[in-house]
Amino acid sequence: MSNQRQKLLQEIIEQSSDPDLIKKAYEFAEKAHKGQKRQSGEDYIIHPLYTAYYLSELKLSAVTVAAGFLHDVIDDTPITSEQIKKEFGKDIAFLVEGVSKLGKIKYRGVERYIENLRKVFFAMAKDIRVILIKLCDRLHNLQTLKYLPPEKAKRIAIETLDIYAPISFRLGMREMTGKLEDAAFPFAYPNEYKQLLKQVKEKYEERKKYLRKIQPIVLKQLKKQRIQPIEIDYRSKYYWSLYKKLQRYDNDLSKIYDLVAMRIIVKDIEDCYKTVGVIHKLWNPLLGRIKDYIATPKPNGYRSLHTTVFCIGGRITEFQIRTPEMHKEAQYGIAAHWYYSEQKGLKAYIKRLIAKAPERGFYWIAQLGEYQENTRGVSPDKYLESLKLDFFRNRIFVFTPQGDVIDLPEGATPVDFAYAIHTEVGNHCNQAKVDGKIIGLNQPLKNGEMVEIITVKNRKPSRDWLNFVKTNLARYRIKSCFKEETKIDKKEIIAKVLSPLSKIRKKIKPIKSKPQKPAKVSLAGQTGIMINLAKCCSPKNGDKIVGYITKDRRATIHKIDCANFKKIKKKWPQKIVKATWKQEK
Ligand code: MN
Repeated sequence: MSNQRQKLLQEIIEQSSDPDLIKKAYEFAEKAHKGQKRQSGEDYIIHPLYTAYYLSELKLSAVTVAAGFLHDVIDDTPITSEQIKKEFGKDIAFLVEGVSKLGKIKYRGVERYIENLRKVFFAMAKDIRVILIKLCDRLHNLQTLKYLPPEKAKRIAIETLDIYAPISFRLGMREMTGKLEDAAFPFAYPNEYKQLLKQVKEKYEERKKYLRKIQPIVLKQLKKQRIQPIEIDYRSKYYWSLYKKLQRYDNDLSKIYDLVAMRIIVKDIEDCYKTVGVIHKLWNPLLGRIKDYIATPKPNGYRSLHTTVFCIGGRITEFQIRTPEMHKEAQYGIAAHWYYSEQKGLKAYIKRLIAKAPERGFYWIAQLGEYQENTRGVSPDKYLESLKLDFFRNRIFVFTPQGDVIDLPEGATPVDFAYAIHTEVGNHCNQAKVDGKIIGLNQPLKNGEMVEIITVKNRKPSRDWLNFVKTNLARYRIKSCFKEETKIDKKEIIAKVLSPLSKIRKKIKPIKSKPQKPAKVSLAGQTGIMINLAKCCSPKNGDKIVGYITKDRRATIHKIDCANFKKIKKKWPQKIVKATWKQEK
């Protein structure tokens, strides 16, 4: 075994409470991947080894670290999940399987892919540890991006910035987020990265030098006030996070005060506030820049006191003050709580996560809190080990043959699925195939199934469907189909009485045929998009309207005061776009 490998493995073993399990998992993985190489030319085992190493850095349990060693075994070697179960038990097999499932999603155009991946991420990752493994797996893959073809590297990098980093951020894992983003940035946006580096590299160095001078001054004052800091140093802002911030500040570097910030860690909350007092006595604070994230933590759980002062030479400098516990949380987020001996810590942490969740649209975090409520009385160990993100408890996710994910309530049938795809598919739905086999239209679908609907032109909805469909959408569409038929029937009878046959045809035609005229609406920043007028409020030319982007390049137009729309807006504010009527000439 190479020196580097030996060293990594040794460190993991020293960290672990179960060295035997660690060794066993390593040896199993090494044997399974024998002969396989990474693009870098190294033996494949280096990748699972690093994945496990990052997991152990997060101080996760031996079970999770072992699963990290084994995470690519099912996909890339002949080993089956049954074998893992036999060798390592149910728990590890479950984690390895979870990671494998996450890797199975196909890439089909970036927009659709992201939406799918997000959903599946949460649906499949029933256990938060699966996500943590996936994040560590990704972190190592990013470090070897330079060996991949540029196009592939770019895709992986963008996907990291779009999906993995935000998830990591929401779990409060700032250090992980920063590492993921800064590893992805140069490959996702090489020009912007180079540009930024040119802009700030010297500044970073210069700021660090300056803070090195400030450090002893602060320390002296703190000691005078009998505050003994546990740690006092400075940290540079991550590049990607700086890049994003600069975009919000007109690319004006002089407006960014936390390029390099001074960080002070003190023993308790009282000392945090005292420290701010000391700093304000030394230097004048900038108005409106004192931020008390201890009293009101950020939505992702972050706690600290921030203040910005006119420091020596009038230089604007940011200070961040926190306790060791807050510091650990700020770095490791949710993972920081795995090893807490009592439940209290994790519960309090999740409470803070959910405090501001709904207003930010983080519904899944709110659900996490709900889960926590339901697990009262469970032993802390069990609770920590199996904290499940089952916020999709009552939902199932099934696939179209094209790989799109359809999100349905539990117990939904192929008819619900058909209507979820399109009204016409529902109305003419004749047969359903699940994973290639024909099943009854009333048979409940299961999570992860691939469903294909076979339509027949003359097929019409049956009243019987109303007895088993689960979605309101399907129910509504089936009923309205019957209503329409009755309407046509009546017209037909009246027409028959009043007119000769030729006229009947003319009269019936506009009712029967329903070609949708494309609506004359334009959407801000969108072209080539299919536009439907919402049935709930039926907007007419001249009404004040807004657009709601659904999926697959479709948009629904609502009146601005439509009650339905208001609900949608609350839930998916990011999908709302400005809409105006096109002027007809
Ligand atoms: Mn991997």
